[in-house]
Amino acid sequence: MTTQVIQDQLVLSIWEQAQYTADLCIKCNICTSHCPVHRVTDLFPGPKFVGPQAQRFRSPREISVDNSLDYCSGCGVCTMVCPHGVKVMEMNAKARARLYQRKPIPLRNRLLGRSELLGMLGSPFAPLANALFTNGMIRWLTEQVLGIHRYAPMPLFSWETFRGWYKGVHCESGQRLQSNKKVVYFHGCSTNYYEPWVGKAAVAVLEHNGFEVIVPKQVCCGLPMLSNAEFGAARKNAYQNIRSLVRYAREGYKIVGTSTSCTLSLKSDYRHILDIDTTEARLVAQQTYDICEFLLELAEAGELKTDFQPLDITLPYHSPCQLKAHNMGLPAIDLLEMIPGVKVNHIQADCCGIAGTYGYKKEKYQIAMEVGKPLFDQIKASRSLVAVCDSETCRWQIAHATGARMFHPVELLAQAYGLIDLNI
Ligand code: SF4
Ligand code: SF4
Repeated sequence: MTTQVIQDQLVLSIWEQAQYTADLCIKCNICTSHCPVHRVTDLFPGPKFVGPQAQRFRSPREISVDNSLDYCSGCGVCTMVCPHGVKVMEMNAKARARLYQRKPIPLRNRLLGRSELLGMLGSPFAPLANALFTNGMIRWLTEQVLGIHRYAPMPLFSWETFRGWYKGVHCESGQRLQSNKKVVYFHGCSTNYYEPWVGKAAVAVLEHNGFEVIVPKQVCCGLPMLSNAEFGAARKNAYQNIRSLVRYAREGYKIVGTSTSCTLSLKSDYRHILDIDTTEARLVAQQTYDICEFLLELAEAGELKTDFQPLDITLPYHSPCQLKAHNMGLPAIDLLEMIPGVKVNHIQADCCGIAGTYGYKKEKYQIAMEVGKPLFDQIKASRSLVAVCDSETCRWQIAHATGARMFHPVELLAQAYGLIDLNI
């Protein structure tokens, strides 16, 4: 069977499921009134229109005509607010894959979907690669040739990868904690190639609480490919991760991640968007936790160390869309407020606009900035020099728009335990 035939059969089977959830829609328009993209641009007619309403008229055997679908950022707000359980974002992601089945996926989208490959290429040459990617002329050229906006918040490559540090420094130093309590860490591409300090903070906090940290083989969770309509490539990565993680899940180990989008992929997107509904996928999903969710569960069981040093600070906190889609509340706030002296200012805004790779695209950069404006305005008004957010691309976008130094909550916890010094 050719790849095209397999892809066609896959889309056909998931089409029937999308059709089923479309029939649950009662056209209340709640999703449209909450959609952050529809709020700022006429180019996107909104989730009800491109989602369940259009779905009823689509044929699985024809090319989708909904070009406006491309303006859906995939933030997932529509699915979260729909009172009738319509999986609008998931429906849109599948329809977008259909849209790109018969027309070429732009090279720009394929590149943005390969954060792991970019990291592998850029990280060993970080000083040079960073100098190139921060050069105004190169960025202008990249915008003209590829369509990646010249001001989009590209992260800097880290010369030292998280895996390099973990294997070459942490394990070799003899300081790695060995314990009967074990936890598996899914670091994702951003921690490995761009922000290894987030992974180091996670390891420090987990070990401080008596856990031996296992770092298994893993590849990119696949979300950047999925959101750029490359379902085949995303499924390949998903199966690799499931194969690697399931043996730990079978042992009963919990799998924690510091990237809300990676953990959401493992918990939900593999099953609900890529339709990988195997026993192994379900087991991995069941054992996966966002790191703050995991730590808060420990706290609720009275098992989290609370030897926090005081930190006299008010922290603006943005809860990213991907985090809300976990349906686990806001564990970072509860954890941060356990640190004596810390006050959390939960910013009341839906979305920062970046939505993974959406805001990097030339034609969507301004939309993303307008989506995030209420958030940026509140952070600027707080006059805080630092802010906190669980998701890496959101941190990069907020830092770009406000100038604030951005931290993952686990970095603040590591600082409060006296394990690292953030110099704040
Ligand atoms: S998808 Fe849900 S929220 Fe949107 S119009 Fe239909 S029922 Fe209402
Ligand atoms: S996923 Fe986000 S941008 Fe797309 S339709 Fe839903 S709310 Fe709007």
